[in-house]
Amino acid sequence: MTYRGVVLDLDGTIYRGEKPVPGAREAITALRDRDISLLCFSNNPTLTPEAYADRLAGLGIEVSPAEIASAASVTTTYLSREYPDDRIFLVGSSGLRDQLENAGLTLTETCEEAEVLVASYDRGFDYDRLTEALWALEGETAFIGTDPDMTIPHSDGRLVPGSGAIVHAIAGVAGREPDVVLGKPSQEARHAAIGALELDPEECLVVGDRPDTDVALGAGCGMDTAVVLSGVTDEADLPGADPTPDHVLDSIADLESVL
Ligand SMILES: [Mg+2]
Repeated sequence: MTYRGVVLDLDGTIYRGEKPVPGAREAITALRDRDISLLCFSNNPTLTPEAYADRLAGLGIEVSPAEIASAASVTTTYLSREYPDDRIFLVGSSGLRDQLENAGLTLTETCEEAEVLVASYDRGFDYDRLTEALWALEGETAFIGTDPDMTIPHSDGRLVPGSGAIVHAIAGVAGREPDVVLGKPSQEARHAAIGALELDPEECLVVGDRPDTDVALGAGCGMDTAVVLSGVTDEADLPGADPTPDHVLDSIADLESVL
């Protein structure tokens, strides 16, 4: 298959914590050499595309902000379209707050006046914030999660709670499921991926370390998929991988073998 576009996950695929996955730089160069369009797509909801570009540049990988999407950019686009004038109560990071404010959205710290509750990764999350989230959800308040990732890899290789943990904590106490969870593999994320690449999905490949988000995104878009074993998935997990990837690569270093 000759692909014209590739969607690359970042954490666990291009880097692990502060370190690039060996071969990542060369793999991106191989895409450039073949004129293959690139979209880096992360479910980390805390950074702006510019911050991702800086982080990648620090690893020697040149990617423009326009080639980067994240759970934060998908959430910002969704809220700007669906809730442009509503008061948003955010349980999330300062990085996400900045992006929502920069998009002209209206945030409130008064839970009683919330019309939308956005739940996301928040290292300051505690009992008081959970109480405010519960109160924010009283009435008709929309309930939105930035991404489903229950855990994320820590730089020492262990897992730590991600946005999904906070979405579930709030859902549990409020006794209701979120109305929508954005990020990969949501419908909103699929539109973002297809819209960014401007290609027929059948000409594209999604590469990532998670079957439930990366492979599911690709399968939902009608793109081919490859799982890499450099992140949260290892060989023993593959028989149960759902959806099943089209390709399995030890790491991004082997990307050229499927191009
Ligand atoms: Mg990943």
